[in-house]
Amino acid sequence: MPPEEFRKYGHQLVDWVADYLQNVERYPVLPNILPGDIRRSLPVSPPQEGESMGSILADVDRLIMPGMTHWNHPRFHAYFNSSASSPGILAELLSAALNGNAMVWQSGPAVTELEEVTVDWLRQMLGLPADFWGMILDTASTSTLHAIVAARESLTDLKTREQGLTGRTDVPRLRLYTSEFAHSSVEKAATTLGLGLDGVCKIPVDEQFRMRPEALAEAITEDRRKGMRPFCVVATVGTTSCTSIDPIPAIADICEREGLWLHVDAAYGGTAAIIPEMRSILAGCERADSFVVNPHKWMFVPVDLSILYTRKPNTLRRAFSLVPEYLRTAHDDVVRNLMDYGVPLGRRFRALKLWFVLRYFGVTGLANRLREHLRITQVFKGWVESHPDFELLAPVHFGAVCFRVHPRGVDDELHLEVLNENLLNAVNGTRDMFLSHTKLGTKYTLRMVIGHLRTEEIHVKKAWEVILQELKRIRA
Ligand SMILES: *Cc1c(COP(=O)(O)O)cnc(C)c1O
Repeated sequence: MPPEEFRKYGHQLVDWVADYLQNVERYPVLPNILPGDIRRSLPVSPPQEGESMGSILADVDRLIMPGMTHWNHPRFHAYFNSSASSPGILAELLSAALNGNAMVWQSGPAVTELEEVTVDWLRQMLGLPADFWGMILDTASTSTLHAIVAARESLTDLKTREQGLTGRTDVPRLRLYTSEFAHSSVEKAATTLGLGLDGVCKIPVDEQFRMRPEALAEAITEDRRKGMRPFCVVATVGTTSCTSIDPIPAIADICEREGLWLHVDAAYGGTAAIIPEMRSILAGCERADSFVVNPHKWMFVPVDLSILYTRKPNTLRRAFSLVPEYLRTAHDDVVRNLMDYGVPLGRRFRALKLWFVLRYFGVTGLANRLREHLRITQVFKGWVESHPDFELLAPVHFGAVCFRVHPRGVDDELHLEVLNENLLNAVNGTRDMFLSHTKLGTKYTLRMVIGHLRTEEIHVKKAWEVILQELKRIRA
């Protein structure tokens, strides 16, 4: 592409993005399509000859936009939302332009060192101890996988790195403990790492959906009695279903006593610790061996960017470092080559978007926006609580409200499930907002998540109106 053409279409695309961000509310949050529609609108085979940038960009509007679920819409209240802030978007452009790749320090000195610096800035912002070393990975699922590899590697007598786990009679079943409300990535890691689903022991929760430490201690004792080898506990600050917070200090006591690796999954909830008065949610995390937080969830950094912190980077290194001749450099003794700490060799310049976002908003700016989300969430919670046909189903710790319709006199769980599922489908069917659901015990639960950069109280008010209007409609 000649430079003049790049300039022309670059400006055009930046204008397109600016218009999109300014007018995102004009789009429905959810697209009006059926599975296969987008695919059918695209050619089945690739173009033989190159096409013009003009026609490619035109097809973005014509073929791609109709199939987008708009994560950048202020009434996206499903899952845990994610915001691409403008400074984050600009950093992504620059990152692609520079195409930096921090396999080793030499292949990306600024990529490596900016990562070290920004990850340490965030550590300070969350009040984590100075001996927490961090690195950037794509997702929390990958971060947790790496944490569990390190936990396994910490069992040095097993020599897993050299001998693996299969075909051996000298390795007992390894056991990992997590709550029944932990994210599915914990079990995925277990299947990936040869621990198997049978290697995961799911500890029951209390009435507030928190791991029960006494049940954890009992399970460990019982497993040891059966000849299994407990090695790791994954606790959560802000569970995906309902944002519950496991009792980290009590779990850390058990891990220390039993000699187990403690990994804390704070993918969503950890961000709240940027607000000084919320720091206490991470109490006990300073005793963890590893900790994950996702700036791409509630810190206005576009997907993907997850950070894995650990107090034992050398254990990660022992698990992963394999240096072929062609990657040896003259600096290896004095620098950190990030390829040594994980699965990926190539590592794109993700730190740039974290740097842009942290600098553009500042610590205070981020804290103020998060605080406002917490405030609006409490407003929404108040509407749920004061409405006779609704009920709150879990404590509200962060920017998520678990609730359901529960009309007076209707107490049959199956009936309530159908009613709430119908309400969810009706609300999402308006395409004017996006909610998701979960199950808390036997209760079908609606989740209203408020954490998008562009979400204000008026959007949440509108969402509540849509919910009430659709409830009225389906009951009529
Ligand atoms: C979202 C979430 C994850 C997974 O995040 P990805 O980055 O999408 O892999 C893990 N744990 C918790 C608690 C989460 O909320």
